[in-house]
Amino acid sequence: MMPNLLAFRTALTPSISVVLRMNPRILRLVVITLCMLSGCRNTAPIVRLPIQHSVQTDQLLVMSDVKLASDHPLITDLQSLRTRVTQTLRLPQEGRMVTVYLFSNEHDYQRYVAQRFPALPPRRAYFVGSSHELAVYTFWGQRVREDLRHEFTHGLLHAHLAYVPLWLDEGLAEYFEVAGTNASGLQQDYSIQLASAASNGWQPNLARLEQLEQVWQMTRDDYQESWAWVHYCMHGSSEARNTLLGYVQELRTNPNPGKFQDRLRQANPHVDAHFFSYVSALNTPTANASY
Ligand SMILES: [Zn+2]
Repeated sequence: MMPNLLAFRTALTPSISVVLRMNPRILRLVVITLCMLSGCRNTAPIVRLPIQHSVQTDQLLVMSDVKLASDHPLITDLQSLRTRVTQTLRLPQEGRMVTVYLFSNEHDYQRYVAQRFPALPPRRAYFVGSSHELAVYTFWGQRVREDLRHEFTHGLLHAHLAYVPLWLDEGLAEYFEVAGTNASGLQQDYSIQLASAASNGWQPNLARLEQLEQVWQMTRDDYQESWAWVHYCMHGSSEARNTLLGYVQELRTNPNPGKFQDRLRQANPHVDAHFFSYVSALNTPTANASY
């Protein structure tokens, strides 16, 4: 059985999201343990999922207690995002449905998540993937568009790929969460911090990123570098772009395709130096003009 995949946006550091890859048996054990510790004395009313209304489009089902028109900007934005993700990554138009549970307020959302996933800290949004359902949980808030774009990207990736390496999962979600018609995927904060780090001795390390398998191993800098590798592949080098797209294609059927770094170096033996130069220039007006 496919393990549960929990991805969530942080409330205090919203530019970071976290993915927990948790075996369902372990998750159940955590729930049972917490129940024993609390003595199951919590008599608060059970919060139910928001399912009064639904809007369904291709590969997207949004459940909510607030009625949404199918042409609501939030819905059309996710439709456009799906088109962009599938076309950019050359994924098929058909795939598993991603269900979004959109709570009308943060209070109900947080209470539901606390009941359903009591071991997890409060967060703005979650993606939970299993063989049963690809689900996104979030609420109406100021960052709902960005959060939905990020989590829906996770959903689409897990709908189409047999396996999604952690660094690539987060790198692509960070890339596609950026809205706008220019499709730059540019995270301004990341580009500023990476350019600064590059001028202060930081060195990229894709090999280390590829070894990360659990979210608690990842720091904010790791999310930032994962995004940067994706951005470099998409905009910094035609060889790297083709390598990434080929890697994604293989991930559709092969859950063990080997290290991405090996393919990058095969395509360009000087890729590390090229990437470093690209990152160093990300925060300049001429960045992203090369490809
Ligand atoms: Zn994420």
